[in-house]
Amino acid sequence: MRSFTFEQVTDPNTAVAAAAAAGAKFISGGTNLLDLMKLEIEQPAHLIDISRLPLRDIADLPDGGLRIGGQALNADVAADERVRTRYPVLAQALLAGASPQLRNKASIAGNLLQRTRCGYFYDTAAPCNKRSPGAGCSAIGGFNRGHAILGASESCIATHPSDMAVAMIALEAEVELLDPKRNTRRIPLGDFHLLPNSTPHIETVIAPGELITGVVLPPRPPGKQLYRKVRDRASYEFALVSVAAIVATTSGTITRARVALGGVSHKPWRSLEAEAVLETRPATIESFRLAADAALARAIGRGHNDFKIELAKRTLIRTLERAAAS
Ligand SMILES: Cc1cc2nc3c(=O)[nH]c(=O)nc-3n(C[C@H](O)[C@H](O)[C@H](O)COP(=O)(O)OP(=O)(O)OC[C@H]3O[C@@H](n4cnc5c(N)ncnc54)[C@H](O)[C@@H]3O)c2cc1C
Ligand code: SF4
Repeated sequence: MRSFTFEQVTDPNTAVAAAAAAGAKFISGGTNLLDLMKLEIEQPAHLIDISRLPLRDIADLPDGGLRIGGQALNADVAADERVRTRYPVLAQALLAGASPQLRNKASIAGNLLQRTRCGYFYDTAAPCNKRSPGAGCSAIGGFNRGHAILGASESCIATHPSDMAVAMIALEAEVELLDPKRNTRRIPLGDFHLLPNSTPHIETVIAPGELITGVVLPPRPPGKQLYRKVRDRASYEFALVSVAAIVATTSGTITRARVALGGVSHKPWRSLEAEAVLETRPATIESFRLAADAALARAIGRGHNDFKIELAKRTLIRTLERAAAS
C-alpha cells in the first residue's frame, strides 16, 4: 500500500473543504476502499475519515418521506422500524447484501459508491479500461459469467454490485450532495450512476470533492414491495441477478409498477419498459411474461453470462407474481 496522510473530520463543511486537496478521498466504513488501496488500484494521497460526521440520522420528512443520512450504517437502516414497514424492499435488499459484520461497518454513501466486482478489475496484471483507460477489457472474450447483459459497451461489461441501490431506484430515491464550495444539490438516484460507454472509469455524476450527505425517499409508494436476489451461495455473495418490484393492483388490474434489476448492468437498472407493459394490464402470469420480455429485449450475452438473460426473466416473473399475490 502507498503511504498517505490521514485526518478525521466531524463536520461536513470541513470534510468538503479538505476534499478540495489534490489526491484527497473520503473513507467511510472502508470495506471497499481499503481493499482497493491494498491492491494499489486506488492510491489516495490523503484520506478524510468521514465516519464520525453527524450524518447517521434517519428522519421523517413533512411529506411522509424519509431522509437517510449518508453515514447511516447499512445494518441500522435495515433494522429501522420505518424502513421495515414503509420501505420493506429496501430492508430486504440491505439484508441480502454482504454479511452482518460488513453491514455493521458499511455506510449508505459507501454502498452507492462501491466499485465493481469484475475479477479483472481487481487483477492488476490484466488489462482493464476501468482501471487504466485505453488498456482494453479482459472480460470481453474472457471469463464473463458475472458480467453485464444490459447497457454494456465495447469498453466495459462490468456490473454494479449494490443490492441497496436497486431497491432505492425502484423507490425513486434522490441523492443529496454537498460540494467544496458548500453548494448543495439533489439528483434522482436513477441519474446518479452512469453507463460505461467509452469512459468506464467515470462511474457516477459526482464531482471531485462532493460529499453524499443523504438519500431521500419519497412517501411510501402504493402496492406490495419485494426484493429477490439470485446468487451462487446463500450469503456473503453478490447478485447474479436481482429484482426489486413494487406492484399496486385494484380489482386484479395493475395500477402502478416499479421494476429495477441488479447484477445486470454497469448501473442499478430501472426497467421503464417492464413498467409500461405492466401498468393497466391484469396481474396475470401472461402480463409478467410480457414485462420480462420487454425488460430483457435489449439484453446481450457475452458467452459465459448468456444464462443471465433467461435467469433475469424468470426472476422478474417470479418476483412480480409474488408481489402481486402477497
Ligand atoms: C466480502 C464482501 C461482500 C460484499 N457483498 C455485498 C453484497 O452482497 N451486496 C452489496 O450491495 N454489497 C456488498 N459488499 C459491498 C459493501 O456493501 C460495500 O463495500 C460497502 O457498502 C461500502 O461502504 P463503506 O462505508 O465501507 O465504503 P468505503 O469503502 O469507505 O468507501 C467506498 C467509496 O465511497 C466513497 N465514499 C464513502 N462515503 C462517501 C460520501 N459520504 N460521499 C462521497 N464519497 C463517499 C469513498 O471515497 C470510496 O470511494 C460486499 C463487500 C465485501 C467486502
Ligand atoms: S469489464 Fe470493465 S472492469 Fe472488467 S475488465 Fe472490462 S473494463 Fe475492466
